[in-house]
Amino acid sequence: MFAVVLLCGILAPGSTAFLWLFPKFPYTQPMKYACHLFTLALLLTPPQREQTWTANIGQIRQASRMIPGPAPLRINVLKFAESRRAKKFSVKGAPDEPSVQARTVFQIMYADGYVMLDSGMDQQVHNFFGRGVAEPFDPEAAKQVERAVRGARAIIVTHEHGDHVAGVIHTPFGNELASKTILTRDQVQTLLTNPQMPEIKLTPEAASRYHIVDYEKYLPFAPGIVLIKAPGHTPGSQMVYVVLASGREYLFIGDIAWHMDGVRNLKGKDAPWIQEDETTLISQLSWLNGLSKSEKNLFIIASHDDEQRLDLIKPGILGSKLE
Ligand SMILES: [Zn+2]
Ligand SMILES: [Zn+2]
Repeated sequence: MFAVVLLCGILAPGSTAFLWLFPKFPYTQPMKYACHLFTLALLLTPPQREQTWTANIGQIRQASRMIPGPAPLRINVLKFAESRRAKKFSVKGAPDEPSVQARTVFQIMYADGYVMLDSGMDQQVHNFFGRGVAEPFDPEAAKQVERAVRGARAIIVTHEHGDHVAGVIHTPFGNELASKTILTRDQVQTLLTNPQMPEIKLTPEAASRYHIVDYEKYLPFAPGIVLIKAPGHTPGSQMVYVVLASGREYLFIGDIAWHMDGVRNLKGKDAPWIQEDETTLISQLSWLNGLSKSEKNLFIIASHDDEQRLDLIKPGILGSKLE
């Protein structure tokens, strides 16, 4: 009997049909009930929906107030290199026109120190991104980035790609910087096993020098700063929410979109050389798109959008120099 019931189960949702197909089989009453039960259970089981990514701005704001202390005062940005890539790669469906991808870092200023968001990269790592083509690299700006990361109280990174993390790995100051760099376990995992380029590969011994954190969804990091888990562009990607003492809010989205048109038009990238979890990215883009409409005091900032960088520097929403 067990075998028949099992067969019904395997054939479900056709298990009731099984009874009709083989009416001559010597079914007992319990066997019939079991077959009908399988069909019913199957019909009542809700379809398994794919888990989509989402976040809650109210919970993020609450987390930003969890660590007591004065909030940050202002935020600076510095571009130290560029990639020249047609816009069609950054935003699916965009025209095949030239576009500049800025390589940037951000500096979150408190009254008594600052936190660096992303760490820059040296010219060798920069050359990787040109894929054989020499692209602009500003050695003077790169020096300023190096000085800023060395002077920071803490360094956090949006994700484990070379243009964001190499400044704390592929540098003569690696040891000094590791002791104040916070990496997530997912970021470290990629850097150990599948780094974007050999220069940023970590050994287990090197990894142990960094502060490695793990969290489920939101991590209150400092007064006014919250890390938001957002895998998709890379396994270790996170967004960084910052609220200043003035109440102005920022959401740094790293490379979830390379250009803000991706958020505005709900379009992913179209770059065959990167591997992303596109389904998750679309959920992230749609959350960001909703925020961009409802939260007028919140500035969503994409690391590489050069037009947005200039637009935000003009009215002083971002400072144009590192301090
Ligand atoms: Zn990236
Ligand atoms: Zn990047």
